[in-house]
Amino acid sequence: KNVNKSELKIMTKNKKIIVVSNRVPYNISRTRSGIKYKKSVGGLVTALDPILQKQGGLWIGWNGMSGKSKFDEKIVEMEGYNVKFLTLSKKDVKRYYHGFSNRTLWPLFHGFIFQTFFNLNYWKSYRRINNRFANEVMEEIKGNEIIWIQDYHLTLMPAIIRSKSPKNKILYFLHIPFPCNEIFRVLPWSRQILEGLLGCDVVGFQTKRDSQNFLYSCKQELGLHVDYNGDLVNYNGRKVKVKSFPISIDFEKFNKIAKQSLIKKVFSEFNAFENVKLIISVERLDYTKGIKERLYSIQRFFKKYPEYKKKVIFVQISVPSRTKIREYIQFKREIDELVGNINGQFADELWSPINYIYKTIPQEKLISYYKASDICLVTPLRDGMNLIAKEYVSSNPEGDGVLVLSRFAGSAEEMSENSIMVNPFDFEGVADGIKEALEMPKNERKKNIFALREIIRKKNIYNWSKNFLKFASE
Ligand code: UDP
Repeated sequence: KNVNKSELKIMTKNKKIIVVSNRVPYNISRTRSGIKYKKSVGGLVTALDPILQKQGGLWIGWNGMSGKSKFDEKIVEMEGYNVKFLTLSKKDVKRYYHGFSNRTLWPLFHGFIFQTFFNLNYWKSYRRINNRFANEVMEEIKGNEIIWIQDYHLTLMPAIIRSKSPKNKILYFLHIPFPCNEIFRVLPWSRQILEGLLGCDVVGFQTKRDSQNFLYSCKQELGLHVDYNGDLVNYNGRKVKVKSFPISIDFEKFNKIAKQSLIKKVFSEFNAFENVKLIISVERLDYTKGIKERLYSIQRFFKKYPEYKKKVIFVQISVPSRTKIREYIQFKREIDELVGNINGQFADELWSPINYIYKTIPQEKLISYYKASDICLVTPLRDGMNLIAKEYVSSNPEGDGVLVLSRFAGSAEEMSENSIMVNPFDFEGVADGIKEALEMPKNERKKNIFALREIIRKKNIYNWSKNFLKFASE
């Protein structure tokens, strides 16, 4: 019901859509009764799965296994469209995926220069896998399809496909930030990345800042003529369109589940009295999310405003992530220790300031946590978008919550006006922001959350994909 078939036909000119992303939208496991496929839940799948289901098409990506996979490379027909599962060798998982994608592009694009690894073997593997993915696409096309490539793992692919099939429509969307040129040009292979992306007809970014950064780098690094106002760059006699499309969520789904969920149950789960205020933070355990800095701010908060002891509980939900990468293992140790220190410093027999949960929470449960929380504290040091901010306001039908949001989250571009904006590096400021949120009068809270809900209701995930495809077809 979220995708109108005739509208879709016009937007795509009835062309077949091929989506390419690092991972296919299914997790696979072997059971006694055969192979089991479980659909994943992220924003991208929510956006593109209904479109492919309506129109048919193909999704290509890695099957998530490493080494001698028990699963052959194959195309499987799933709910209305085909999925091509690719396997990767152990070495390529290490170099292309954990290496260049997650130890080079991920930190650098988030501005963490000194956590970035510049390794020639990583780069060679990245280039090879981008070629390999492009060849897998070439095997499946006639030349008139819409090929929609996703994210930082596959930046070189557009140009490779363009060279082999010049008439194909090629679209790309970057889910993480695109850094300013001072940071981007540090990368020894920065020009190749730009040339890779310029193989597209449309390059999409999360925010205006990202698309402007990209255009500026095209000008500086490649000497191209760019039109900042028309969102265009001329390259090899073609016009490449560049524009921001902030990704979003299924507002109605969150709203509906939240309306049915019970707050009381959540309070008893956290052993909290109902007059205690719950402040929630949720994210993968990643150094870009500002968890360490947030903990220092919480420490500052109880030092500066001791009257809030026993009246507030911080619920910190950290999802295990990239647990094979050294920086993440080290980071987890630091967080564990810091949480222990702060709880030890302030707790008494009946109350601990931080309730730290290290696991993945199913989304329905998460929604009940959002609804029960008086404040959502979203303080990444840098984030492409950050969906938690959007999910929190959508899960707040009564409108009595407060969003405290980092100015460095992509979602700040749409949500800054009705939330308390903070700089996560400024512990004093975040501590004050928390206090301000706790003391905000009810009518102001309502006004803010309802304004934010209207924004997300309109700019939901279905509009995201529609707007992107419409822009691409114009
Ligand atoms: N999420 C979840 N269970 C958890 C924690 C997070 O399902 O325990 C989901 C959350 O609902 C959101 C996504 O993970 O949809 C996180 O997306 P976001 O863009 O904020 O961050 P990313 O992890 O993509 O960097």
